[in-house]
Amino acid sequence: MSWRIKDWQRNRILQHEGIPDQLWQKLINLRCLKGLSPDELAHLRDCVTLFLHAKQINGAHDLVITDEMQVIIAIQACILILKLDLAYYENWVEIIVYPSEFIRDYNYADSAGVVHHVHTTASGESWLAGPVILSWQDIAHAVDHPGHNVVIHEFAHKIDMLNDGANGCPELHPNMSAHTWYEIFSKAYRKFCQQVTRGHGLIIDPYAAESPAEFFAVLSEVFFELPLIVKQHFPSIYEQLALFYRQNPAERWSQQN
Ligand SMILES: [Zn+2]
Repeated sequence: MSWRIKDWQRNRILQHEGIPDQLWQKLINLRCLKGLSPDELAHLRDCVTLFLHAKQINGAHDLVITDEMQVIIAIQACILILKLDLAYYENWVEIIVYPSEFIRDYNYADSAGVVHHVHTTASGESWLAGPVILSWQDIAHAVDHPGHNVVIHEFAHKIDMLNDGANGCPELHPNMSAHTWYEIFSKAYRKFCQQVTRGHGLIIDPYAAESPAEFFAVLSEVFFELPLIVKQHFPSIYEQLALFYRQNPAERWSQQN
């Protein structure tokens, strides 16, 4: 179903499928929502309702998906596009949730046509025009571990993929410069990779050194989860992410403290 739906259809979904008050109030204490205004929270609630209408969240290995689990996933997916558009998540339907880490086992061909075999465990995975796969254990773990958020991570990949595949540069808005984005992210990525090699001075998850796409996804996690860290240690990147997501979470946090 396209999310470019008619107003009457949208209103009907919001009216009949809205998130129950008790559940919503229980979950709006998630860290990534800190400092949102009542208007922003109301808009997020609408986004979550429309998101859950359009997506199917299925448990793997007999995992039973409760309403609360669905809303936790939807809130964290929708915080990324709160000031953008639900259309960023169009053209795919399913979210598969495993009880814990799952095995990735597939072949892929690189740009030179060489076929590689992947066999590893993961807490999350996103496919272009395909499902998002998540580990519930890692989603639950993130609630008590600031800075790690597998849902935000995988949905940042989804957004990034819309522009020529996952490469660390989503499609930028007209008021942004691709050249500036590339310069700032490349320089910070190179510096971060050197720090990982040396094994010290790490502010964010060393997994960010895997590729520019992972660097973008990890920084997006920290941008929403611990924005003051990104603003302090990666100020130029903070500025670009604030322009892209059209949000200023560090300001929200400062006003709360
Ligand atoms: Zn990733």
